[in-house]
Amino acid sequence: MDFELGEEHRMLKELVARFVADALMPLEPKVLERESRGEGAGLTESERKPIDAKARELGLWGLDAPSEFGGSDLPVEAMVGVHEELGKTVTPYTFPPDSPNLRMLMVTANEEQRQTYLGPYARGETISAIGISEPGAGADPAAMITRAVRDGDEWVINGRKIWISRAQDADFTILMAVTDKAKGARGGMSAFLVDRGTPGFNVLRRIAMIGGHVTYEIALEDCRVPAGKLLGTEGQGFAPMQIRLSTRRVQMACWCIGIAQRAVDMICEHARQRVTFGAPLADRQTIQWWVADAATQIHACRDQGVRHRAGLGHHRQGDADVRRHGHGQGDPAAVDGEQGALDADLRWPLGSAPLGDRPQSAGAAVMIWARRPGERGDLRSRTMRCCEVRSHGFRLSRLALGRNDGRRGFESCCR
Ligand SMILES: Cc1cc2nc3c(=O)[nH]c(=O)nc-3n(C[C@H](O)[C@H](O)[C@H](O)COP(=O)(O)OP(=O)(O)OC[C@H]3O[C@@H](n4cnc5c(N)ncnc54)[C@H](O)[C@@H]3O)c2cc1C
Repeated sequence: MDFELGEEHRMLKELVARFVADALMPLEPKVLERESRGEGAGLTESERKPIDAKARELGLWGLDAPSEFGGSDLPVEAMVGVHEELGKTVTPYTFPPDSPNLRMLMVTANEEQRQTYLGPYARGETISAIGISEPGAGADPAAMITRAVRDGDEWVINGRKIWISRAQDADFTILMAVTDKAKGARGGMSAFLVDRGTPGFNVLRRIAMIGGHVTYEIALEDCRVPAGKLLGTEGQGFAPMQIRLSTRRVQMACWCIGIAQRAVDMICEHARQRVTFGAPLADRQTIQWWVADAATQIHACRDQGVRHRAGLGHHRQGDADVRRHGHGQGDPAAVDGEQGALDADLRWPLGSAPLGDRPQSAGAAVMIWARRPGERGDLRSRTMRCCEVRSHGFRLSRLALGRNDGRRGFESCCR
C-alpha cells in the first residue's frame, strides 16, 4: 500500500501552503503579541472575514463536507496535507466546517437533522461545540455522569461539562450524556443536539488555556430538549463519539507535523546564516545530525498520519459497523503500538550496532513492541524503511542546510 499523497492531494496541499503564506503568516506577529498579553490567540472578526472570503474564493471551503451541501466531499486522507500546511503557522485557522463534529453528524444525523444541523454546518453557516469532558471524566469519557432522563416527549439533562471549546458562541452543542447507568459506555451513552439559548444550558465560566486557547465550563440544570434532538440511536452514542475524537487526533497529529516541519525549515535557514567561531552553524556536524534526526522523525510521523487517515476515511451515514473504526486504525492503542515500534527504532542508539545491521536490530525492536501479531510484518517493513531514511538523513540534512558539497556523506558507511 502506498502511503504517499496522490497527485491531486499534493496539488491541494500546495494551494493551502500558498494560502497559509499569503493570508495567515502575515498575522503571526499580532497573534503572538495578543497571546503574550493573555488575550487568547483567536482571530478577531475583522481579521477572520477577509481570510474566510479568500478561502471561499480559492475553493477551500467545505473540503470534506458532503457535496449535497455544497462541499467537495474529499476523502479524509486528502485532508492530511491540508492540516499539515495549516499547522505551519501559529495563526489559528481551519477551513469551515471543522471536520470532527462534521464527521460525527455525518454518521448519526437523521434526515431532519441533516437538513437542520448538518447542512448549515457543512456550509459554514453555523458554529458547533462538543460536550464530552467532565470534572471527573477526561481521558476516560466512559466515566461521565451527566444524565439524560426521558420525560414524555422530552429528555431532561443534568450534569456538568468542562473544557468545552466554543461553548459560548456555538449555535448548537453535541452533548454526551448517560441514558442507561447500568450499561454506561456499552449501550447506555447517547448524544443530544442542544441549541444555543436552551433553558438549563448555562455557561458558567471562561477558562484560559495554555497556547491562547479558551474553553468553558457548563452546568446542565434540568435542561429539556425535545425527543427529536437525540442524535443517532439511543444508547449508541459512544462509538460515533470515538470517530469524532479520532478525527481530531489525526488532525492534531498533522498540525504537529506541520509546525515541526516549519521549525526544521527555520533551523536550516538560521544555521546557514549564523556564524559562530568562524564557521556557519550549518557546517557543524552536530547541527547536521539534529536536522537529520528531526527530518527522519517528521517523515515517520507523516507516514503514520497518512496511514491512519486512510483508515478513518470511510465513515458515511449508515455505516453498519461504526464501532469497529472506533477500535481500529484511529484507535489510540493501535497508534501507540505502531508509534512505539517506530520510537523504539528511532531511539536506537547510534553506534551500538554496525550500521549495516540496523535494519535487523530495528526488526528485533518491532518484535518486542508490536502488540498485534498480524501487523508485525507490516510494521517491520515500515520501520526498516525508517531506518533506511535515517541512514540517508545525514546527506538529506546537508542538502537542507545547503552543504551539498559532493561528499557522499553518512550513507556510504552502510554499503
Ligand atoms: C485546548 C483544549 C480544548 C478542549 N476542548 C474540549 C471540547 O471541546 N470538548 C470536550 O469535551 N473536551 C475538551 N477538552 C478536554 C480534553 O478532551 C481533556 O482534557 C482530555 O480528554 C484529557 O482529560 P483530562 O485533562 O482530565 O486528563 P486526565 O484524564 O486526567 O489524564 C491526564 C493524563 O494521564 C493520561 N492517562 C489517563 N489515564 C491513563 C491510563 N490509564 N494510563 C496511562 N495514562 C493515562 C492521559 O493520557 C493524560 O495524558 C479540551 C482540552 C483542551 C486542552
